Amino acid sequence: MQVLFGGTFDPVHNGHVVMAESLAQAFPSATVHVIPNRQPPHRMSQVSSEHRLAMLTMAMERMPQITVNTIELDRDGPSYTVDTLRSLREQFGADESLVLCLGADAVQVIDQWYQPEMLAGLSHLCILNRANQPIELPHILGAYQLTEDVSDFSKKASGLLARLATPNIPVSSTEVRSLIAKQESTLPVPPKIADYIGRHHLYQDTE
Ligand code: ATP
Repeated sequence: MQVLFGGTFDPVHNGHVVMAESLAQAFPSATVHVIPNRQPPHRMSQVSSEHRLAMLTMAMERMPQITVNTIELDRDGPSYTVDTLRSLREQFGADESLVLCLGADAVQVIDQWYQPEMLAGLSHLCILNRANQPIELPHILGAYQLTEDVSDFSKKASGLLARLATPNIPVSSTEVRSLIAKQESTLPVPPKIADYIGRHHLYQDTE
């Protein structure tokens, strides 16, 4: 089983680390792929993909079940999730269980994605429910079969949808960037990430 957790990670923070660890725990026999996305030119961060990737790799090291996968950084053009799923499906084969993990916020706008109707044929969907609140599922997700138990994901390759209650660590990358701009000395990121940010003078000019 391959579990997929994507994001911008600009920068990676304690919430991301806890989430990756929770996924490794919830899916003990899976590889958890943490997938940094390519940023579209109009949303370009002031920090390069190389720095984002270096920090993410450092934050996830020494966790044997977790791998940082550069599939989206290595591909030209926008990071459409369906394209990533197609590549992974080709790499791992038709029978491998692929589990796309999305926060409840992303799920709410999934009908605005590129080819959302293709998702259910390519992977399962695991909705990360941090606040443990009821989530209204957009109609487009009707193609998935609902299950209460995430262990069902191992029984087939794609097409199931489950919610997973996960710890709620109230931090975002936006908040981290703004704390840095305010020259706060304590950041909600792993210590080696705080060192890296300081050493490379990252995010100093955040507005
Ligand atoms: P930004 O503030 O720049 O929008 P972010 O903190 O939300 O960033 P992303 O890189 O957009 O981080 O998120 C990557 C993934 O991590 C998403 O699936 C998101 O739901 C999840 N995530 C973000 N913040 C947390 C958190 N505090 N705890 C657990 N998961 C999180």
